[in-house]
Amino acid sequence: MNQVHGYNLTDVKLHNRFLVYNIIRLYGPIRRASVARRTRLTRATITNIINEFIQEGLVLSTPQCSTSHSYLQINPHAFWICAVHLQGAVAKVAVLTPDMAFWESATVSLAGSPEEALGRVAETVNALRSKYDIRVMGVAVSGVVDADRALIKHSVTMGWENVCLVENLQRLVKLPMVVERNANAPLLAEVWQGAAAGKRNVVYVNYGTGIGCGIMMNGELIARDGLVTGELGHTTVDPSGPFCHCGNQGCLEALVSVPALLTQCKAISRNFEHIGDADVEPLFTALYSQIEQGDELCLNLLKRTAEYIGLALANMITMLGPEVVVLGNGFVQAGERFRNMIEEAVEKRVLKSSRGSFKIVPTSIKSDAILVGISSLAIRRLFNGSAEA
Ligand SMILES: [Zn+2]
Repeated sequence: MNQVHGYNLTDVKLHNRFLVYNIIRLYGPIRRASVARRTRLTRATITNIINEFIQEGLVLSTPQCSTSHSYLQINPHAFWICAVHLQGAVAKVAVLTPDMAFWESATVSLAGSPEEALGRVAETVNALRSKYDIRVMGVAVSGVVDADRALIKHSVTMGWENVCLVENLQRLVKLPMVVERNANAPLLAEVWQGAAAGKRNVVYVNYGTGIGCGIMMNGELIARDGLVTGELGHTTVDPSGPFCHCGNQGCLEALVSVPALLTQCKAISRNFEHIGDADVEPLFTALYSQIEQGDELCLNLLKRTAEYIGLALANMITMLGPEVVVLGNGFVQAGERFRNMIEEAVEKRVLKSSRGSFKIVPTSIKSDAILVGISSLAIRRLFNGSAEA
C-alpha cells in the first residue's frame, strides 16, 4: 500500500483508523470487502477498527435488502468538529460533521489585542457548543506557528507576536485542540485523502490576501518547530518592486496577492471599484471580461501576475523537486486560464531535466480547504486520544 506519512505518525493503530475512516468517508456507502481492498489491511484489522467505529457511533452499518451484505457509511451526526481559521482582520469559525459537511459558520472580528480577539472567538465557539456536541477544535493560523506548543510566534497578517493559544483560547473553551499553519492543514488533507494521496514530496500553495505554502519532503512537514518556512509570498521576485507589509521590497505578495492585483486593476479601470480585497472570483471574472473587450493593459497585467507566480513556483520546484504541486482554492477561484498561464511560466523556467517529474494540480477539496484540512487534523487528534482539554 501507499504509506501515508507525516505529522508525528508513530502509532500504527492511529494511522490505520484514520485510513479506514477516510476510505469510508470518501467511498461510503461501501462494503467491508471494498474497504479491505482499498486499504490493503488484513481482514482482522479491518473488522476490529470497523467494530470500534460502529460501537463509538462514528460508522453506520446498513443491511442491503437484496443481498446479505451490509454497507458502511460515516454517521454525520456522531459528533461535531469546530474549525477556526485565524487570518487578517477576521476569524472564520465553522462547525463540521465527521463527513466534512459544513453545518454552521460565523465570522469573528479580530480587532483589538490578541487576548480580546481570541476571547471573542472563544465566545463564538462556546455559543456553538451549546447547540452542537463538539468534541474537538482545530485552529489554522496565518503565520509562523509552533504547532506542538500551540504558539503563534509571528503573524504578519494579524500583527501578532508570541500568542499562546492554550492560554488565550483553549482555556476558555476546554476542548481538545490541534493547531497548524494555514498552508499545512490543507496540504496534509491532500496527502491523506486528496489530490496528492500517498505522495511523499508535496507542495501546497495558497492564493489570496497572502501566498503561503505548505511543504512536505520525504513524508515530513518541513520545519514544524515554529521557524519561518513556506513563506513563498515573502520571497523577493523584483528587487526594485513595491514595498511589502513585511518591510521588504519586491516580495511576490506585494506584486501579485489578490489585494495587490486589485489595486493595479483599479488603476486601469473603474470596473473593479466594487470588488473587495478578498474577492478572488469577482476580481478574475472582471479581469477576463475586460480582456474579452480587448483591454490590453488588463491582459498584460494578468500575464505579468502569472509570470511572477510561475517564476516563484519554478524556483521552488528547482530547489525542492516535489512530485506534486497542489494549487489551493484561490487558484481554483481565479480560473483555469490563470492556472494554465502559471503552468506555462513554470515550464519555461524549470530545468529541462525536471520537466515531467512533477505535476501541478488544482486542489481536490472543493469547499474551504483550510477549514476542511484543519478538521481532518482535529479528527486525527481525536482518534489519537492524546489531546488534553
Ligand atoms: Zn513581504
